[in-house]
Amino acid sequence: MAYALITGASRGIGLAIATELARQKFDLLLVARSETLLREAASQLASEHGIKTDFLALDLAATGAAQHVLAWCQQKGYAIQMLVNNAGYGLSGPFEKHPLAEHTDMMAVNMTVLVELTYLFLPVLRQQPKAYILNIGSSAAYQAVPGLSLYSASKAFVLQFSRGLHQELKRSAVSVTCVCPGSTDTNFVDRAQIGEKGRKAAAKVNMTPQEVARQAVEATLAGQAEVVTGLLNKAGKFMAWLLPKGLVEKTAGSIYE
Ligand code: NAP
Repeated sequence: MAYALITGASRGIGLAIATELARQKFDLLLVARSETLLREAASQLASEHGIKTDFLALDLAATGAAQHVLAWCQQKGYAIQMLVNNAGYGLSGPFEKHPLAEHTDMMAVNMTVLVELTYLFLPVLRQQPKAYILNIGSSAAYQAVPGLSLYSASKAFVLQFSRGLHQELKRSAVSVTCVCPGSTDTNFVDRAQIGEKGRKAAAKVNMTPQEVARQAVEATLAGQAEVVTGLLNKAGKFMAWLLPKGLVEKTAGSIYE
């Protein structure tokens, strides 16, 4: 079978997606920065599921990262059937708290590399009789979130880009799916430096990365355009649409004060 290429596959939702795809006998290419975690995951998934795996340790915020991933695949002769743009993170607190370079790095990983990989791998994906792009958005895409303003904006970008591309490619062999998880029990809160109030709120409603991955892979293979994981998060999306924006933003932002 051709490979699924997964960014951010060293832990969390990306690793769970890798595991779910391994169960379905996809061969896997794992990309993230943590070489030791990637090596462990690649070897464990290969031996447990009898699939082929390889990994690339790379900082996706670095200039030319997407081109590097494509060159690596070409050099190794890997055919790709699924691209999973999962790598991403948030930075919580007031916008001016973080140096500008941290914001632009986050934008690079959450948005620029996702666009570049999609662009560079589309011709590769088109060579397959059926191929898939899975982009990981967030429930934060459905409203502005004060205290996570740039992150929520980056995820709104991912959602709109994915939906547009889904329609553009409708008559092609490549389907595009955007999966929007809500709070999920991963390293996200630590990397985003979310405070005690936000952690407690997340802990009450957290889904497991395994359940998110199961729903994400199912939606992708079914060719759905957009999926919010979990009933509570689906209800959250509906409320964000229904209620006055100012009220929704105040409520969302109160978690990250
Ligand atoms: P996580 O446990 O922190 O995993 C993030 C993954 O992205 C890791 O594999 C990390 O690998 C990789 N990554 C981060 N920065 C990178 C960089 N510069 N270069 C290469 N890889 C990088 O968080 P997660 O929750 O699984 O996040 C996965 C996706 O789900 C993200 O897009 C996130 O925005 C989205 N999401 C998460 C939640 C949630 O509550 N957890 C909710 C909605 C959406 P290394 O550290 O090894 O580089």
